[in-house]
Amino acid sequence: MKILVVNCGSSSLKYQLLAMETKAELAKGLLERIGMAGSVLTHQPEGKEKTVITKDIANHNEGIRLVLDSLLHPEYGVLKNVNEVDAVGHRVVHGGDKFTKSVQVNDDVMKAIEDCIVFSPLHNPANIAGIKACQALMPGVPQTVVFDTAFHQTMPPESYIYALPYEAYEKYGVRRYGFHGTSHRYVSLRAAKFLNRSEKDFKLITCHLGNGASVAAILNGQCIDTSMGLTPLEGLVMGTRSGSIDPEIVNYLMEKEHMTTAEIKDYLNKKSGILGISGVSSDFRDVEEAAGAGNKRAQLAWNVFAHKVRKYIGAYAALMNGADAIVFTAGLGENSSSMRLEICKTLGFLGVSIDPEKNKKRGIENDISTADAKCRVLVIPTNEELMIALDTEEIVKK
Ligand code: AMP
Repeated sequence: MKILVVNCGSSSLKYQLLAMETKAELAKGLLERIGMAGSVLTHQPEGKEKTVITKDIANHNEGIRLVLDSLLHPEYGVLKNVNEVDAVGHRVVHGGDKFTKSVQVNDDVMKAIEDCIVFSPLHNPANIAGIKACQALMPGVPQTVVFDTAFHQTMPPESYIYALPYEAYEKYGVRRYGFHGTSHRYVSLRAAKFLNRSEKDFKLITCHLGNGASVAAILNGQCIDTSMGLTPLEGLVMGTRSGSIDPEIVNYLMEKEHMTTAEIKDYLNKKSGILGISGVSSDFRDVEEAAGAGNKRAQLAWNVFAHKVRKYIGAYAALMNGADAIVFTAGLGENSSSMRLEICKTLGFLGVSIDPEKNKKRGIENDISTADAKCRVLVIPTNEELMIALDTEEIVKK
């Protein structure tokens, strides 16, 4: 079975074609600058040279068409006929509280994704456009959706209710939804397998530390709390996002700087985080390098990030009465041995003990703890595309 995984952003489109029997990535690619001049598709067929195509692409429909043309291309394609695609799995950012798992697309599902546009105004419309384009260009091919929010819908009310008048929840759906669910679920399943544990008897804290960052508390296979909230702005400090702050800061700064709602949103989402503190970059590599060269604000950004992750790990261990394992994943979590060490340095009380040699390895599933550590610390490369494809395969086979 061949499954195409599609991940549409507001101006980008990532895709991967997987052969499910072997889990081989037959091709993958990224189309950037959709709707702008100078759109670029980088297409990587398995075992062949990368191809870069520059062609203005007006919308996601044209984008999907270009992706299919590339997959079918006589030189750099990997398919002879589009009918070889058995199903398409779409990543959808916000499914509200309606979806606890992945589903096949139908009119009700499309309506529910549209209803969630209010919470995810940039991503959900792009996701809808991607689904509609695939339906139009691949008629008869089953389409499924995998929600970033779904895994977190097992949270109990005490985790997802904000201490606002209850009507805010009832009237407007203001509650914690959580994001990065596909990644948290994937690494939690891999962690249980890696440690040869039943996920049904397992206290796990998963740290997805990339440009966007979130932590989840997973008790016996079910998410019981996560750091992102109504939107992906809450929680940890991120590349350009503030994470949790005193809500009164919003009013104070809007008054002081005469900011509009759009401006404060931009300020919190795009100008804050480690970029805002350091003034150097939103990329942790640049920040670490600047800190190493003596830049005090870059060092401060690094320290603030680690401090916040530690706080969440401590809080989630408290919720679960301990933790059997902690997982680090995503760009920073998988690659930065120095950040992992920094975060773990005060976690001895939990039974965390890092082996510096094991911590140096990269790109593989790895237990970086010393042999006697009570709480295992794992590095697990995330693979959201594979998780989406596995869900799609399961739905289609049913
Ligand atoms: P992601 O959003 O998962 O793609 O992660 C992107 C983030 O991971 C960026 O901020 C990068 O700086 C960070 N990152 C990637 N590779 C490394 C590395 N080798 N060391 C430190 N940070 C890294």
